[in-house]
Amino acid sequence: MKEWKVPKTSSRGYAIAPVYVVRTVEVKADERKISAEEVDSEIKRFEAAVAKAQEDLLELASQNEIFAAHYAMAGDIAIYDGVTGKIRENCDNAEAALMQTRDEYVMIFESMDDEYMRERAADMKDVSGRLLYALKGIEDNPFAAMKEKSIIVAKDLAPSDTAKMNLELVAGFVTEEGGVTSHVSIIAKNQGIPCLVGAGPILDEVENGMKAILDAGSGMFILEPEEALIREYEEKAAELARLTEEMERLSTLPSETMDGHKFSICANVGSPADIRNALKYQIDGVGLFRSEFLYMENDHFPTEDEQFEAYKEAAELLGGRELTIRTLDIGGDKGLDYYEFPKEENPFLGYRAIRMCLEETEMFKTQLRAILRASAFGYIRIMYPMMISVEELQAANALLLECKKELDQEQIAYDKKIQVGIMVETPAAVMMADDFAELVDFFSIGTNDLTQYVLAVDRGNPRISEKYNSFHPAVLRAIAHTIEAAHRHNAKAGMCGEFAGDEMASSLLLGMGLDEFSMSANGASRIKYQLRGVTYEAMKERAQEVLRQSTIEKVMEHL
Ligand code: PEP
Ligand code: MG
Repeated sequence: MKEWKVPKTSSRGYAIAPVYVVRTVEVKADERKISAEEVDSEIKRFEAAVAKAQEDLLELASQNEIFAAHYAMAGDIAIYDGVTGKIRENCDNAEAALMQTRDEYVMIFESMDDEYMRERAADMKDVSGRLLYALKGIEDNPFAAMKEKSIIVAKDLAPSDTAKMNLELVAGFVTEEGGVTSHVSIIAKNQGIPCLVGAGPILDEVENGMKAILDAGSGMFILEPEEALIREYEEKAAELARLTEEMERLSTLPSETMDGHKFSICANVGSPADIRNALKYQIDGVGLFRSEFLYMENDHFPTEDEQFEAYKEAAELLGGRELTIRTLDIGGDKGLDYYEFPKEENPFLGYRAIRMCLEETEMFKTQLRAILRASAFGYIRIMYPMMISVEELQAANALLLECKKELDQEQIAYDKKIQVGIMVETPAAVMMADDFAELVDFFSIGTNDLTQYVLAVDRGNPRISEKYNSFHPAVLRAIAHTIEAAHRHNAKAGMCGEFAGDEMASSLLLGMGLDEFSMSANGASRIKYQLRGVTYEAMKERAQEVLRQSTIEKVMEHL
């Protein structure tokens, strides 16, 4: 038996299941000389690899024309001659011949004047990588071999990885790297999957199929546990299921405190499927629809109609409940396969979110038009991410107005009173909160980013994850200031950062006056249950007391 413990987690729940290990090792070409007798079989091996790569690429080609070009390249006769010639003449094995041919082509492409041709070097690398995988019989999708419900253990998981797996088979996630607000944690939370990130070195110790226990709430990962421990955890899991059921049963009651103060409990989602799941928790609406997932799961910028369909479906599922759609928040740690972001020293401080949207205006308008059109089918609100200046808000609103005028001219219906708000997730937005509040209908405080920017602590860096703490008095005061500014100008104040679903924080936030708590759906019943058990008056007083504290330790003493 071996144990890992992580000091801070954002998820809860238990998984008792075998381990499925995902190793993303760089594939070595394994280059060697062959004998003259092996030449024919080596050529056949290469031809089989070409056939396999082309078969995969043909499937992908219907999604994206890049893959059609790769299909052609994989079967290119000059490349074929280059590789087989080296096998025949130099007695190189297929891997060695492929790598040399790749290098030759890459050098030729890279030395060309024409930029388009220079970019073909990347295609050549990609295609030869695929051929190498095929030669070595390695599957491109590392999750394809997963057949039973398992705990996935990996170095790190990108949002695109989760798109490749069958979530029904995922009992839990454990990653060596990543922080509690990394996107894999968020996806795990939305789906109610126990998850442990930033666990440190594990991969050397695990093997596929080893039995393990994941206790996400207390940050424990136990490999090859004894039978008695497994039984203990099975009981804990059953008890948790009972408690969750009880809270869910009570969640049909209204969202109000014991003294009648109303609040709303919303969910953060990334797709209509997430909404279907969230509705089980009796949510009052969706406080954050992360529209970027629509872009990340695609191989092209989703068209206006594709987006419209998704937003309309989401609005209709919610049947008149609020649906807050955040406009594209891409960049930082969230890339797109089909759009090249600039290489940056500090991507989290770089070209991302609203900054990109205000440059790629056609793309942005496509989204705004889709949202507006969908607003005829439900109660939709528009929310801009990463705002730092009133000018940005004005520029975004000017584009929104253009879209509205276009739709008017085309006689297409939309909600003429559609509400517009911003995410408050930068220190600039906090400092300017009064100015912003005059211009918007609502704020939604994004504590995941706000915490990292106020404290200058990278939200995904496990080395300093101890310092990433939203209970830091600076963060709490920033939150309180934002809520007060909103209310001074009759704007609503919500929160869609993970902090809104933190059991220790929720009554404090209520006391600060927060109107809306938006969180991963599976936390909704618990927070509602908790807030229904307090009085607003008492929480207001306690919040004032907490806001006077100067250290995290003193803050925690008061909670
Ligand atoms: C946030 O920053 O708090 C937030 C909700 O946005 P994301 O986690 O998607 O950056
Ligand atoms: Mg954010």
